[in-house]
Amino acid sequence: MTILHHRSVFLLAGILWAAVARPAAGADLVREGRARARILLPEVAGHATLFAAEELRGHIERMSGARLPLLFAEVPIADETLVVLEPRRLEGDIQADGREDRFVLETRGNRLTIAGESELAVLYGVYQVLEDLGVRWFTPGELGMHCPPQPTLPLPSYHPARAFSPSFRTRELDLSGTRNTHFDRDPARQPQLLQEYALWLLRNRVHHKRVITTRHLPQPFGFGQGREFQGHNLRRTALRGAVFAEAPERFPLVTQASERWGRDGVAARREGGATQICFTHPDNLATAIASVRTYFETHPQHLTYPLGLEDHAGICECPGCVKANGDVFPPHDPNRLVWAFLNAVADGVATTFPTRKISVYSPYGSMTRPPAGMRVSSNIVAVAAQVTGNHLPVADPGNTHAATYLEHIRLTQAAGADLGIRTYTMYPGTPQPLAILDSMRTFHGLGANWYHCESMGRDEHRWIVTWALARLAWDVSREPQELLREFCDTYYGAAGDLVLEVLGMLDEAVRGMPVVVLGSLGASQSILSEALIVQLSTRLAAARARVEGREAERLGRLIDSIDMMAARARAARACFRAMDTRSDASIQQAQAAIDAFAELWKERDLSLTCSPSLLDEVTQRLQGHVAKLREPMSPQRGAHVGTGTPAILLEEAFSMATVPAPPPADLFILPEHGRFKLDIDRQGVAQAWMRADLDDSGWREISTWNFYERQGYDPYDGDYWYRIRFQAPPLETGRRIILRIGALDDGGDVYLNGKLAHTREHLSPLAWQESFTVDVTALIRPGEDNILAIHGQDHYGMGGLWKPVVLYTQP
Ligand SMILES: [Zn+2]
Repeated sequence: MTILHHRSVFLLAGILWAAVARPAAGADLVREGRARARILLPEVAGHATLFAAEELRGHIERMSGARLPLLFAEVPIADETLVVLEPRRLEGDIQADGREDRFVLETRGNRLTIAGESELAVLYGVYQVLEDLGVRWFTPGELGMHCPPQPTLPLPSYHPARAFSPSFRTRELDLSGTRNTHFDRDPARQPQLLQEYALWLLRNRVHHKRVITTRHLPQPFGFGQGREFQGHNLRRTALRGAVFAEAPERFPLVTQASERWGRDGVAARREGGATQICFTHPDNLATAIASVRTYFETHPQHLTYPLGLEDHAGICECPGCVKANGDVFPPHDPNRLVWAFLNAVADGVATTFPTRKISVYSPYGSMTRPPAGMRVSSNIVAVAAQVTGNHLPVADPGNTHAATYLEHIRLTQAAGADLGIRTYTMYPGTPQPLAILDSMRTFHGLGANWYHCESMGRDEHRWIVTWALARLAWDVSREPQELLREFCDTYYGAAGDLVLEVLGMLDEAVRGMPVVVLGSLGASQSILSEALIVQLSTRLAAARARVEGREAERLGRLIDSIDMMAARARAARACFRAMDTRSDASIQQAQAAIDAFAELWKERDLSLTCSPSLLDEVTQRLQGHVAKLREPMSPQRGAHVGTGTPAILLEEAFSMATVPAPPPADLFILPEHGRFKLDIDRQGVAQAWMRADLDDSGWREISTWNFYERQGYDPYDGDYWYRIRFQAPPLETGRRIILRIGALDDGGDVYLNGKLAHTREHLSPLAWQESFTVDVTALIRPGEDNILAIHGQDHYGMGGLWKPVVLYTQP
């Protein structure tokens, strides 16, 4: 009986508690424009909490006209409605789950409590409440804010309490090349743009990065900044204080034999350039551990320390390093050597800072994954850098770049590493593909905790995607398409569905490209064909007719950014046509297209809605190339082949492969010079430019031992063709006849005598400098005239056929 009695009391208490705890019916923050609630802060409130209170009442005032009073100590008033901001330890082991941004929203009676794991988390809680009241921050600045007018605002109900935590522990938007890509160049306008940008990031709960290190502008906030220290920091970490003359053995032993870093063919300790360190020198390990510890002591906000290789060239070849790499000569696969070093650093740092991590870019370049059977410390974050293939979702079956990349990620994670992702938006002026949104969800599904996006520009059209990206980083369960629709419908009103359609058209055009690496003038002109430009204009004109006021102003900015991209693509296209033909008429057209772009920029004041770097790119860089087109073009041989001695040519033809010893007795080096043509509209295949009997006398002569950019075609990226006519030697029958191409940047189709002989995929980041072979036994005409035609694609930087091509036989 006693037990029953107690239980009844307990039940009764529970019912009473529940009644009290429910939000009181009719409790309001604001009623008919008058404040009905106060905001209660801790007696000692830090900057972020005070800022949270100001954000809350600022937005409520904007919506309702009423300003909620602040309270720093609770004064009991019957039936008073309170919003309580409360930074405090929430339940659960914060270090273990890494959710320092967690907050809980709970309404009990007339009291809404916003409790956060940190002051920043309380601020995030305020933003959640404001979002639930209908507020959005679509783009930076006042125009980007959506704050629906509501004279009466009921107290939001979070009953039972709701806990929130982000999908990714870090959600970094790294503003790349800040001054030229994200802000106006006018120093008078910069502070406001910076402030607006930083506020936009904060309100969308994305960490801001690099914005705060912009030296010429003050840091807008003391909170919400990035938590990952990123970069290629290996040398400055492990070689800190090392003097080359005193301790050369701490520096890597490297044989230099590459176009990029100079050739001397000598194995020596190297002080500078893109070299790494000696990975097995004990002083380097000890220095690296000490450097990371010092950094963590002095930078409490950073959770990771980067030990990224210096873009992968110059791995140590000393006996100790070769042995540690499993007796495999390191340059082509340094994984065992480097992961072992990183593990040792991570273990050393973990004794002092068990919850903070070493980060390394992998897969990226020649660092791919740990070798089979090797464990990776869980104190290492492998940051998979998605440089290529990001115009398609990473899980799309058509994304040929993704399969090995995803496999490397899986194997690295299976070996024990924590997983981070570094991805990139397109460069300014290139339409932003939507794939970045789907890919983020895939990465999360793979177990990625750390998300870092290098944001390249501020062209107005990309805010739609960037906003969705920020929302997804917090809550990856959202549907990307729904987020895009929400942006378009709310931001552009009745024009929303047409804007969404325009976004889809741009995305489809990008997806139609074989590869777009970050974007360039060449890629942009290819994506933005004349036909697409006309279609976009039609949609946008119809959209313009549907809206007025704020929505029209917003749409105007979007139209400005798309018109800019179209004008830029036209200028690039005209310039490439002029490069291809060098006729007076084409040069005049290129000049006119550049002038039209400059005129548009000035007339619309495009620095406010587009990345200012684009102005220089067209009116200075492109202009400079056009100015040179009337000069005679002379085919230039690359410095890497030097005087062209047979030994050097052989080594270049076997680029990144072992030169056979002795060399093939019947080695034949194809002529250096061939004919070259840009395939600006990608019509070469349809017009059969590979045909043996094609009249290529109108094509321009070029050296095939140097990049085409260095021979008057800079900055063209895209499709191009080479045709090399050669008389083959009388090769021995009964043996396989091998054509070895020294390097094709970045890939393409190889035709011999009009027939497709080989397709060179651009899969590896090193492929641009790697030789490859084609068995041409069935296609070659020994002792006769032959035509080698190459239909290549350059996606980024330098391009073309740039190392010698040779023929030889094999058994
Ligand atoms: Zn070494």
